[in-house]
Amino acid sequence: MTPLLPSTAANDLLSTCAIATTPAALQILTPFCTATRTVLWVPSALQANAEQFQPTGLQVQTYEGSLREVVAQSWGTHQAFVFALATGAVVRLIAPLLNNKATDPAVVVVDEAGKFVISLCGGHQGGADRLTQSVATHLTATPVLTGAANHQGLPGIDVLGAPFGWQRGTGRWTEVSAAIARGEPVQVIQETGSTLWQTALPESHPFQFGWTEPTANSSDNRPDPQARIWISPIERKFSDVGQPKVQWHPRVLWVGVGCERGSSRQLIEGAVAQVCRTNHLSLEAIAGVATVTLKADEPGLVDLCQAKGWPLRCFPPEQLKAVPVPTPSEVVEQAVGTPSVAEAAAILAAARIPGFSATALSDSSSSNGLEDAQRLRVTKQVIRQEGEAGAVTVAIAQAPQEYTNRIGALWLVGTGPGNLNQITPAAKDAINQADAVIGYSLYIDLIRPLLRPGQIVEALPITQERQRAERAIALAQWGLTVAVVSSGDCGIYGMAGLVLEMLKEQGWDGEAPAVEVFPGISALQSAASRVGAPLMHDFCAISLSDLLTPWEVIQQRLRAAAQADFVVALYNPKSKTRTHQIEVAQQIFLQHRAPDTPVALIQSAFRPEEQVQVSTLSALLEHPIDMLTTVLIGNQSTFAHKGWMITPRGYLGQMGK
Ligand code: SAH
Repeated sequence: MTPLLPSTAANDLLSTCAIATTPAALQILTPFCTATRTVLWVPSALQANAEQFQPTGLQVQTYEGSLREVVAQSWGTHQAFVFALATGAVVRLIAPLLNNKATDPAVVVVDEAGKFVISLCGGHQGGADRLTQSVATHLTATPVLTGAANHQGLPGIDVLGAPFGWQRGTGRWTEVSAAIARGEPVQVIQETGSTLWQTALPESHPFQFGWTEPTANSSDNRPDPQARIWISPIERKFSDVGQPKVQWHPRVLWVGVGCERGSSRQLIEGAVAQVCRTNHLSLEAIAGVATVTLKADEPGLVDLCQAKGWPLRCFPPEQLKAVPVPTPSEVVEQAVGTPSVAEAAAILAAARIPGFSATALSDSSSSNGLEDAQRLRVTKQVIRQEGEAGAVTVAIAQAPQEYTNRIGALWLVGTGPGNLNQITPAAKDAINQADAVIGYSLYIDLIRPLLRPGQIVEALPITQERQRAERAIALAQWGLTVAVVSSGDCGIYGMAGLVLEMLKEQGWDGEAPAVEVFPGISALQSAASRVGAPLMHDFCAISLSDLLTPWEVIQQRLRAAAQADFVVALYNPKSKTRTHQIEVAQQIFLQHRAPDTPVALIQSAFRPEEQVQVSTLSALLEHPIDMLTTVLIGNQSTFAHKGWMITPRGYLGQMGK
């Protein structure tokens, strides 16, 4: 179901508790709390103050007694806290509760003047840096991020795989982060998983990719790396001394399982663990489990998958039978109708990720594509356990693409006419929080200040709308949150319609990926605002681009609008090669309106190159018009006054000049 209120980025990310203890703090946090539907906790003494904000939709929870107890009680149940309180007070409140940065919630502090938002702790793994950005956007305050990675324009090393569902493995995380903070070279050996994160790095990043020879033997003069990051399904044991190392595990392993009816969860779990251990594979790298349909309700297997968060993929025997495997078995064939369960199921599960289109996702830098036959990493192993009846067979295949275990989202965002001041806070927040931002390169440049380190940004040329939409959908189906940006409003001659049409074509269920549209100020509004109030009465928009609409249809609409006395906003009035449409439009309007009907030409509204001209219908073509111009044609009552253009609504009596 579509949510009634827009779910914002911050709210999707975290279950947040906001706390105010004074009337001023209450007022300051209200814009953030209402926009993100975050419940605001206030002492019961502030109940009356809070009630004043009820019309804004503010949800308030009052508490009795000491704030210290309230925070202690909520610590385990909330993923984030936003305090409008002195930093010192917050530090004292949370000090006894802090435990481990991998599990502690995000803590964000807003000063009582509402000018600064501080990411106090849980910056990376807790998500406090991102929450800080979001709160700052809603409060138009300055975010204060003190983590080193942030100011270097780098993603935190302990969160860089999060968008792709990678699991953090063992390692000396703090030391590797410290090496990066010192600007020391760090070696990255990525054996699997998406390389998209590499495209999001600033030019001056500290990473050296792949193996490097020791300096003495090397022809280049690259300094020796001081730390190492592995991205791999393999579980490595690192030394506590010497160069610090860490490991990320993308979830690429599909474990094929065959077992006798009634095999216990312990037996299956033990078998999977044993096979992984023997082959140095990390349990964290397991994407899911695959088997034959017959085993879809095998209690031990179902129980194990639920407990581990592993999807269970089941294939019918006919499908498994068609897969060539190294270790077929006649006995198995007689029992279940396929010579292989574990190997064949693992290969099939690793071959595809539902809903993901391999062509749209493949990126040139990825060398992870494996042929069917190579996909099997561990051939069938038969595991028995002393004292347990039955046997389990396990085989492991590696997928070319990691399983993210996330439901992706498509945020269709309108960025307004081009000035950052003209974008809604909700749209700004969406752009900042998305994992990936996709749009036409000119618009991406205009919103660049809103982007955050580590974000995947894909700017495509203006003509490639279909490719842009396809790419966005593929990334969202894979599990990412993707913001597709259009200038003005995304749903007015923008990308929203195309994305939704293409989703429908692919059999979208309306829910996954989740879609949300963030409205923006369309060109007709921004253009109108520059000349006064030309759209005060019935109006319409007509695009003169005949690229996708037959010219005959456009002419019919021009005639109808002219006849019906609509004020008209002409989009796409003229390009370098398409010049005669605006001339025909003028002729059509002259048949129904006086030559001195006011016309406004607004070029690049709200951008540094803005040009505004109020003219008349007969003189329309004397002015420069291009693809960044919106032409507004008045109705029979519209009048010009000292460079302004006004269409009467009728308040002052009769319409007319
Ligand atoms: N989705 C956009 C429209 C895209 S079509 C919106 O809602 O505004 C592109 C056309 O929009 C341009 O040819 C021009 O006619 C108009 N346009 C876009 N930005 C503009 C701006 N800043 N000033 C004037 N017109 C603009």
